[in-house]
Amino acid sequence: MSHVFPRHCHSTQPVAVGGDGCFLIDADGKRYFDGSGGAAVSCLGHSNTRVTEAIKTQVDQLAFAHTGFFTSEPAEELADLLIKHAPGDLDRVYFVSGGSEAVESAIKLARQYHLENGEPQRRHLIARRQSYHGNTLGALAAGGNAWRRAQFSPLLTEVSHIAPCYEYAERAEDETLFDYGQRAAQELEDEILRLGADSVMAFIAEPVVGATLGAVPPVEGYYQRIREICDTYGVLLILDEVMCGMGRTGHLFACDAEGVAPDILCIAKGLGAGYQPIGAMLCTGEIYGRIADGTGFFQHGHTYLGHPVAAAAGLAVVREILENDLVAQVRARGVYLETQLRRRFAQHPHVGNIRGRGLFWGMEFVADRDSKRPFDPGLGIAGRLKKAAFANGLICYPMPGTRDGRHGDHVMLAPPFISSEAELDGALDSLE
Ligand code: PMP
Repeated sequence: MSHVFPRHCHSTQPVAVGGDGCFLIDADGKRYFDGSGGAAVSCLGHSNTRVTEAIKTQVDQLAFAHTGFFTSEPAEELADLLIKHAPGDLDRVYFVSGGSEAVESAIKLARQYHLENGEPQRRHLIARRQSYHGNTLGALAAGGNAWRRAQFSPLLTEVSHIAPCYEYAERAEDETLFDYGQRAAQELEDEILRLGADSVMAFIAEPVVGATLGAVPPVEGYYQRIREICDTYGVLLILDEVMCGMGRTGHLFACDAEGVAPDILCIAKGLGAGYQPIGAMLCTGEIYGRIADGTGFFQHGHTYLGHPVAAAAGLAVVREILENDLVAQVRARGVYLETQLRRRFAQHPHVGNIRGRGLFWGMEFVADRDSKRPFDPGLGIAGRLKKAAFANGLICYPMPGTRDGRHGDHVMLAPPFISSEAELDGALDSLE
C-alpha cells in the first residue's frame, strides 16, 4: 500500500521512473510525451545534462547556506541574468521555492511598500474573476476562481475581483476586440474609484492566462490601459508569469509582447524547468529602495529561499534558454503547432476554440460548436480527455472550464521547447 498522500485520493497512478528528452517513462517502460510539461514546467525536457551537471556540481560544492547569513554565487549570478533580460525597471530578485510563494511574497511586498511609503490605508488588492494565483491562503485569496475558494472562505477579505479579459468569448457582439479590452480595463478604474482612490495597493493578473482556462492571450491594448490606470492611482501592477513566463509564449516574459512592464513580476515553473523547485519575485529598484531606506527589512521569508542548488539549476536553465535561442525556437515550433492544431481540430463538432501563443496552447471543448454551449460540467470532459490521452501516451493538462456556462472544458498543451515537429505530430495523433 502506498503511503503517499495523492491529490486525487482514489487515483492509482503509474510510477514515473525515468525521463528522456520530451518523454517520461513509467515502471512498465511505457513512454509518455510530456505535452503539457507537467503544468508548463518542463520547458527543457527531462534529461538536460547542462542542468543536471550544474546541480551535481553545486551539491558537491555547497548544498545549503541560510540566507540569514549568506548569499551564494549561483543566486547572485541568476539574479544578474534575470535582471539583465527583465522588462522595465525591474532591478531586484527575491528567490522562493515556487509560484504560490512568489505570489505571496508579491502581495506582502506591495503591502509593506505602501506602509513604508506612509500610505498604510492602501491595503486593498484587486484581481480578476476566474483567475488562479496559487494555493497558499494569500495566493488563494488573490485568485478569483469561485470553486477553488469556496471551502476555504472567508479568505483575506481585502481582495476584490473584476472581469478578466480574454482574447475570445467574452466580448459583446457588436464590439471590436480593442473596445472590449478597453471596457474590461475600465473595470479596474471603476473598482479603484469605488474603493477609494488611495486605498488600493496593487492589481494582479496573469498576462497570458494559463491556470483556469489554459493559454488565453490578452486583448491588444488591454495591458497598456491597465498600466496607465495603475500609474494614475499609484497602484502597483503585479504580473503573475508563473506559468506563462520564461519563454513559454515566444517571448522571454509574456508581458514583453504587450509593451508593458510590471512593478512586480512573479515567475516560477519554467525557471527551474522541473529540475529544482524555484520561483522568483522581481521588483523595481523604487520598491526595493523604499524598504531598504525605510525599515531596511522585508518582513517575509522562507528557510529555503535562494537555495544554492535550486539557484544553480535556475541559472543553467536560463543560460540554456538564452544561449540556444530557445525563445526563437518556441516561436517557430509554435507556428507549426498552431497550424497542425487548426488543421486537425478546428472543424471538430466539439471544439469551440483554439488559441495560444508560442508553445502554449489551449483547446476548448463544447457540446455545440456553433452556439459554444459548454458540456454539462458533471460530464467531466476535460478529465476524461486527460485520461484517454494519457492512456495513449500523451500528457496534456485538463481544465474543467469556468462552470458558469460561459466557457467549456479545456485541455492545455505546453510541450518542451525542444520538441521536434515529428514529436508534436505524434502528440496530436494521440490527442486526436
Ligand atoms: N500562479 C499561476 C499563474 C500558476 O499557474 C500557478 C501554478 N499552477 C501558481 C501561481 C502557483 O504555483 P505553484 O504551484 O508553484 O505554487
